[in-house]
Amino acid sequence: MPLNKKQENTGVHRIRPEIQTLRAYTVQASDGLIKLDAMENPYSWPKHMRDEWLDQLRDVPLNRYPDASGSELKQHLRQTMNIPQQTEILLGNGSDELIQIVQLCLSGPGGAMLAPAPSFVMYEMTARFVGARYFSVPLCSDFSLDLDAMCNAIRKHNPSVVFLAYPNNPTGNLFDRAAVDEIIRVTNGLVVLDEAYYIFAHDSYYDQIERHDNLVVMRTLSKLGLAGLRLGFLVGPAPWVGQFEKVRMPYNVGALTQRTAVFALQKMDVFKRQAEFIVAERERVYAELRAMPELTPFTSQTNFILFRSAQMPAAVLFQKLVERGILIKNFHHAGTVLHQCLRVSIGTQDENDKFLQAVDECLR
Ligand SMILES: *Cc1c(COP(=O)(O)O)cnc(C)c1O
Repeated sequence: MPLNKKQENTGVHRIRPEIQTLRAYTVQASDGLIKLDAMENPYSWPKHMRDEWLDQLRDVPLNRYPDASGSELKQHLRQTMNIPQQTEILLGNGSDELIQIVQLCLSGPGGAMLAPAPSFVMYEMTARFVGARYFSVPLCSDFSLDLDAMCNAIRKHNPSVVFLAYPNNPTGNLFDRAAVDEIIRVTNGLVVLDEAYYIFAHDSYYDQIERHDNLVVMRTLSKLGLAGLRLGFLVGPAPWVGQFEKVRMPYNVGALTQRTAVFALQKMDVFKRQAEFIVAERERVYAELRAMPELTPFTSQTNFILFRSAQMPAAVLFQKLVERGILIKNFHHAGTVLHQCLRVSIGTQDENDKFLQAVDECLR
């Protein structure tokens, strides 16, 4: 938005032009709505677990700075998540912050970033924050990687980072492994595999980190059931992580977060059970959407489902659902692979039933 005269007098015009043209990330108001727009785990903790957690928080020394290296937390992550031995861990305030750290380190003059489109919006947003050039390569209409186009773009722009969400958001699919391998091979810079949804997926690149010099894998506790906590971690070869460490703010992960995460990691079986239930619900919702002739759902390896509305425009269906108390996300963008597409996160059984019922009513 161009500045008016009055704003210019404040000196705000000195803000970098690429920041001035950005729009702040907005989160749709959800008061009173069934919230199926943000891939949150719908389940809270059983009472005894909550009490046990609160007991542990009681003696966190809040007058002291947190452990800057997060060593105890990293040790628990290593055990619980089977992190490969010959790798290092970088902790972030959500994986959003890790994306930003990677980009700060790799943007520099002439630095370019590349990712398929559509993919996670933060790759492009943070590329703009750091002043990097950003290139996106459209996915095929079945949401698979267009490997030729990706490789051509990589050769042409020589990106310092390539981001691949595995599975991808907002499409929900895992990319073909041979294609991902080829991208890792042809990329001169770093490849970041973003496994935010690993708990719902049947594949991972974890075991590949030690086999490549230029591959790191990012994960987060958010989609697992701790979105409010803000903890992400990146696993990669020591030379890369050592550089990223220099840019990480020393106390980016607070003491309450560290203690809570250590507690939660010891309860992984609870989150795994919840994830199994969410996956079962995902398959049920998929089958029900498929049975509606007006809709085409796409198979998913995540806790959400992308679907296309064949007759009713996505924006209309979205609004009608809001009127029935249900918030999902509209991804329609004319002329792209997401035309007339919407995304619904998997909620509790009851929320999913209400969603399916409401969709059915909207389409009648
Ligand atoms: C949700 C999401 C993230 C963000 O994770 P946070 O740890 O909550 O910042 C990262 N990548 C992808 C692909 C996501 O969908």
